[in-house]
Amino acid sequence: MSVPFPPLPYATDALQPYLSASTLSIHYGKHHRHYVSALNEKIDGTSYDEMNLDDIVFNSAINNDQQVFNNAAQAWNHAFYWNCMTPKKNLSPDEACLAFITRNFASMDDLKSKFIGSAARLFGSGWTWLVRNPNDTLKVINTPNAATPMVNGLVPLLACDVWEHAYYLDYQNERERYLEHFWQLINWNFVSDQILKPLPRNSNPSIPAKHPNYITMKPFQENTFD
Ligand code: MN
Repeated sequence: MSVPFPPLPYATDALQPYLSASTLSIHYGKHHRHYVSALNEKIDGTSYDEMNLDDIVFNSAINNDQQVFNNAAQAWNHAFYWNCMTPKKNLSPDEACLAFITRNFASMDDLKSKFIGSAARLFGSGWTWLVRNPNDTLKVINTPNAATPMVNGLVPLLACDVWEHAYYLDYQNERERYLEHFWQLINWNFVSDQILKPLPRNSNPSIPAKHPNYITMKPFQENTFD
């Protein structure tokens, strides 16, 4: 069994003028595709081969199988990222999602400025996320490189790819302009659909864990705004 390369949920030119067809063709067609094919090469003939992508991410994280984890988590993160954007205009969070946001942030503008501020400050390559904690509060976090909050007991609601390959063709060094435009593309219907989802779960912990305490052993980089 191999991990499928999921379809892009819109045409490569659908997010213009904010993200060009060249950026989407290369980012989706080359980078994302490479993570999936590299993952499939690495798991061929291993115990990961029979797992779905969520379980590969969890089990490779638990076992600190860094190369499998990097490609699996990047495959997962990119599929999530494409769904976080849409060519549809004027979307907004539904009532339940908005209630969560306004309980945790002063306003939508406050969320926007914290999200963009966090992404602008991320050093090197990584991802910025809006996540739900187990206690139902929301927070904005950064994760470095391939790291993904789905293995850290958090429900991802929104992800922005802050690797240079996500924006450099269109924006060069102007990361904040990319982030402002990313905000215009957010698929609030998708974000709203995530708000009450249960935590992603490791349904197939069939590989004995070398490090059962992985989650507390390797916390991801986190920004706080208190
Ligand atoms: Mn990327």
